[in-house]
Amino acid sequence: MSNKPVNHARAAEHFLEDKPHLQFHDERLWDMRQKRDAQMHILPEWQELREEASRIKEHTLSRLPEYLEQFEENAKKNGIHVHWARDGAEHNRIVGEILKAHNAHKLIKSKSMVTEECDMRPYLEKQGVTVTETDLGERIQQLDDQLPSHIVVPAVHKLTSDVAKIFAKDYNTDPDIRDPHLLAEAQRQAARPVILGADSGMTGGNFVVAETGTFVVCTNEGNADLSATVPNLHIATIGIERLVPRMADLGVFVRLLSRSALGSPITQYTTHFRGPQKGGEMHVVLVDNGRSARLGMEDFWTSLKCIRCGACMNTCPVYRRSGGLSYGAVYSGPIGAIIDPTFNERKYSTLPYASTLNGSCTNVCPVKINIHEQLYKWRRVLVQHHEMPFVKREIMHMAGKLMGQPKLYRAAIKATEVSLSTMPRFVLYNWLNPWGRHRENPHPVKQTFNDWYRKNRKPGKDGTPEAKK
Ligand code: SF4
Repeated sequence: MSNKPVNHARAAEHFLEDKPHLQFHDERLWDMRQKRDAQMHILPEWQELREEASRIKEHTLSRLPEYLEQFEENAKKNGIHVHWARDGAEHNRIVGEILKAHNAHKLIKSKSMVTEECDMRPYLEKQGVTVTETDLGERIQQLDDQLPSHIVVPAVHKLTSDVAKIFAKDYNTDPDIRDPHLLAEAQRQAARPVILGADSGMTGGNFVVAETGTFVVCTNEGNADLSATVPNLHIATIGIERLVPRMADLGVFVRLLSRSALGSPITQYTTHFRGPQKGGEMHVVLVDNGRSARLGMEDFWTSLKCIRCGACMNTCPVYRRSGGLSYGAVYSGPIGAIIDPTFNERKYSTLPYASTLNGSCTNVCPVKINIHEQLYKWRRVLVQHHEMPFVKREIMHMAGKLMGQPKLYRAAIKATEVSLSTMPRFVLYNWLNPWGRHRENPHPVKQTFNDWYRKNRKPGKDGTPEAKK
């Protein structure tokens, strides 16, 4: 895997050039954000729910080993096989072995970001297993050979016409279909025989309950239920941070999840898996893949509270205008920019800069993760670890020095004001200055606030102007 830093800005530029997609993406996500706001206003106890969700998650994370063991013990009593995977490679090996033991070659799979993290599909395909995504958006992305661009709506960046073209190629349908219902029906017709012929099924897990040894999957299409129940073998791949202590805690999260994600009161299907079906087998693979390491990071451990609702993406002005694929990572948007550098600091070193730090992500997060503060902290860490381009680092260094000396700073401001009004435009706006490509400098002012203040206030005893009484 290449270690080269992702060029988010360049990828975003391509996305920005395509006006119809850009406008559609921006409007669609903003629509979800507005629907989420409407749901929030219906519930007077919204802020208390967020507070409670955050409290439960922080409590669980602070005693994670204990709750994981409790889950394992209870799940085994329910007849579930529990496996532990340190990383992606171990996860893939475990899943491959389970399938091999059952002589299973046709896996149907509900959307799961953890399997994307582990790069499971290509691994299993090399072992002779066909993997078919059953979630509509995820299937579109699979057929188009792309990662999901959003954690809840994987193909959110695609227009109906894009989907029609993909389906025409793979399902032989009319490339000019523009009715989403007809496209959904085409997927249904294509998926049905695959589902019925599958010998193994896979789901993720939104919440894992330690007290009962059960887990919950929330979807809107019911595809997870088909993946889990049509074949006799069900494998659930779940990140270790998905634990909640008690069944009684679930209500808080179920009320927050869909409202935050899509602005709908609840997901269409909220299924509790309590053990294998009659004559079947159920396996849960609990995946660490860097989570324990993140739990030990003082500034970033609370990112593990994330319930993957995507609300921070829907509200982020950078995400809405750059598209999820421009992040070049499994997780995109504000939460992705926190998680991804924990996988590979160099490769994802540009992502914490893909934010205006306006705090909107933090405001909408149902589990109260201080997202914009963590993004800011990542920037500091990356500078300390020298994971910043040389030119940018030196400019920041010089700016820091300048701002630390008020007299020099004011003289520089004056000189800049003069030169801005006289300098030919090309000196500032040229290919050497990517910052200027989408930005205009403010007009030079005749008088700075500092000049005005000095002129209008008498000097105090120490020579600085006194504040007006
Ligand atoms: S960080 Fe918060 S808002 Fe973003 S996906 Fe996770 S839970 Fe949702």
